[in-house]
Amino acid sequence: MSQPMHYQPTTGFAERARAAAGDPALRRGFRGAMDFLQAKRLAQFPDAGDLSALRDLGAAIRRHALENLPQLLEQLEAKLVANGVQVHWAETPAQANAIVLAIAHRIDAKRMVKGKSMVSEEVGLNHAMEAAGIEAMETDMGEYIVQLAGEGPSHIIMPAIHKTRQQIAELFAAKLPGVAYTENVDELIKIGREVLRRKFAAADIGLSGVNFAAADSGTLCLVENEGNGRMCTTVPRAHIAITGIEKVIARLDHVPLLNTLLPRSATGQAVETYQNFISGPRKADELDGPDEVHLILLDNGRSQAHADLQLRATLQCIRCGACMNHCPVYARIGGHAYGTTYPGPIGAIISPHLLGIGATAALATASTLCGACNEVCPVRIPITEILIRLRNEAQARPAAAGPLRGAGEARSALVSAIFRAWAAVYSHPALYRLVTWAMSRGRVLTPRAQGAWTGIRTPLIPAKKRLRDLLAQRRRQ
Ligand code: SF4
Repeated sequence: MSQPMHYQPTTGFAERARAAAGDPALRRGFRGAMDFLQAKRLAQFPDAGDLSALRDLGAAIRRHALENLPQLLEQLEAKLVANGVQVHWAETPAQANAIVLAIAHRIDAKRMVKGKSMVSEEVGLNHAMEAAGIEAMETDMGEYIVQLAGEGPSHIIMPAIHKTRQQIAELFAAKLPGVAYTENVDELIKIGREVLRRKFAAADIGLSGVNFAAADSGTLCLVENEGNGRMCTTVPRAHIAITGIEKVIARLDHVPLLNTLLPRSATGQAVETYQNFISGPRKADELDGPDEVHLILLDNGRSQAHADLQLRATLQCIRCGACMNHCPVYARIGGHAYGTTYPGPIGAIISPHLLGIGATAALATASTLCGACNEVCPVRIPITEILIRLRNEAQARPAAAGPLRGAGEARSALVSAIFRAWAAVYSHPALYRLVTWAMSRGRVLTPRAQGAWTGIRTPLIPAKKRLRDLLAQRRRQ
């Protein structure tokens, strides 16, 4: 499988995470941004009971879609084809890129404008287009900034959240001819818009993602805040939408409920600025719209996740980013440290399906299992349960290799022995009492340097008295 060019093997995850955690400016920036987003989300859900009911409904809609995935995908394809949309299936990133290139060559396209699409990041589309001599220009302002900087997004909703105003000002002044340094945000946005307007008008292809694909009507639903998505899907003569197979939902009337959860969980907005519903190319009596519309449905490991009843929940995700915004690990290291297209908690549970558990085993360990992600996920994905499962899969004995590609690749004899010993102690009460007694009495022998743990934390030293000793003492008093 070809990797997106910006994908970094997760073997370097610990080093990248350490470097990010040691960068005070980056930590300050992420902490401030995450605090802001958390407060905005909270303000959107003042009633815990209402929120809980909405999350139940959101989860039910997504689970129902996944339970009926094969039938819904067939129905979606039939409806879209009837509406005049050309549907393509891609098993791998390479196949997805080849489909886009074939369309581009057929219509002799030289320029593409792109709305926000994480799946296009996942397949490394920009690099494939560049290699073929086709300009692929990001038009979401955050994506445009990171593309200009030669980086990937660090957040699935706010791609340039790692950049300060000053860094963006420097970037524009350095990369855009004739642009003077300014830290005025309105000015910076105006500069970006002027560049992008010209690109929309000259583009042959507009590429977009899909938030939800309604099977009953064959409608592609796309939400955004900048209007660039609408420009990409209406101005160029061809529109290509690309999405994972899991984005299908049974009914168009499920969209309002999901759209109630998505912006409020993501950016703390009551509603997105633009909601686009695309159901086919321009008709004879219509003034605008593309001549042709394509939908590429990408698998890339999603069928593997779908085949396992526990891991299937990963595919419920509506890509709101709330789990990142509330994750104490993500808030300290930011998105680039993960080295994968999707960072944070959702990245840790989806990336093993896209890239194999061997390459991504470290990500599942980058969690305190505090459960903040579970509590905010609008579609109730049990992220921590899946993380524990992935940790086990990464360590699985080869003979018991699970359904995940690369299961057992991170197996370590030492770690396995420690966990076996721990399990034995925990399952024999007498042994547990003896070991904890010995640990509390021998606490002075505990090494103060405990490897990576004490690199940034205080050492783990057993308490002077065990809990059972304290309770016994209290009973005697
Ligand atoms: S896992 Fe849940 S919280 Fe995280 S991005 Fe997906 S839907 Fe949002």
